[in-house]
Amino acid sequence: MVYRTDYHLHSWFSDGQSAPEDYIAPAVAAGLKEIGFSEHLTLFKESLDWSMKLSDIEPYLAHIKTLSKNVSNIVVKTGLEVDFFPGKEDETYSYLNHLDLDYVIGSIHYLGKKTVDLGPEFYEGKNIDRLFELYFEQVSAAAASGLFDIIAHCDLIRIFGFKPLTDQVPLYRKLAKSLKAHNVVFELNTNGRNRPIADFYPDRQFLHIFREENVPVCVNSDAHMPSRTGQYFDEAYDLLRNAGYSEMAVFDKRQRYMLPF
Ligand SMILES: [Zn+2]
Ligand SMILES: [Zn+2]
Repeated sequence: MVYRTDYHLHSWFSDGQSAPEDYIAPAVAAGLKEIGFSEHLTLFKESLDWSMKLSDIEPYLAHIKTLSKNVSNIVVKTGLEVDFFPGKEDETYSYLNHLDLDYVIGSIHYLGKKTVDLGPEFYEGKNIDRLFELYFEQVSAAAASGLFDIIAHCDLIRIFGFKPLTDQVPLYRKLAKSLKAHNVVFELNTNGRNRPIADFYPDRQFLHIFREENVPVCVNSDAHMPSRTGQYFDEAYDLLRNAGYSEMAVFDKRQRYMLPF
């Protein structure tokens, strides 16, 4: 049996619908050997209902640590999904540096003051090509920041199906080179299937670019409810195999190891 992980789970410590404990049985049933929680942490913003409060962090870390000790049929890791804000690298580093984590996932949800994934209004009347360029620039900057082990949903800007007119290959190529240069993993995020785009992130037609540039990968569900843990993973691993991948990244205490699949 292949060792599969799912490092991108949200419990009710951020915007998931259930307690962390509720993810264990579905994860085991999905054939996963290892899972990790990655609650939203959005520094520099006030009272967001989808992100943890700073005061929740220590209880969250303690809770997952206890859970991992009490569960024997699956390995449970502790992570965070942290929003990247250009210009705030040092403050973000100072904050994350002292936390006892297995990995940190970096995300771009914000372009400017607004998030790209909360509604299609964000896109209306805007130059879509320019939005894609800006989004990819920010993801590359996140990769280069040294703050993150994994980059989440690297083309989330596709979420509502607005399509750029220009060739996107150069954007993906540049991003893949940046990820590789800074030793950052990208995720094949299966949750896009449940969103308006109804497909994984990144766009499967560009997966070969990540492979050609030797960017390490892991597969994540970004589940916000237990039933979506490990969802669509057979298809995801098939896609990766077809793109030429044969190993995936696992993490422990912010060290990366590669395992065959
Ligand atoms: Zn996210
Ligand atoms: Zn997430």
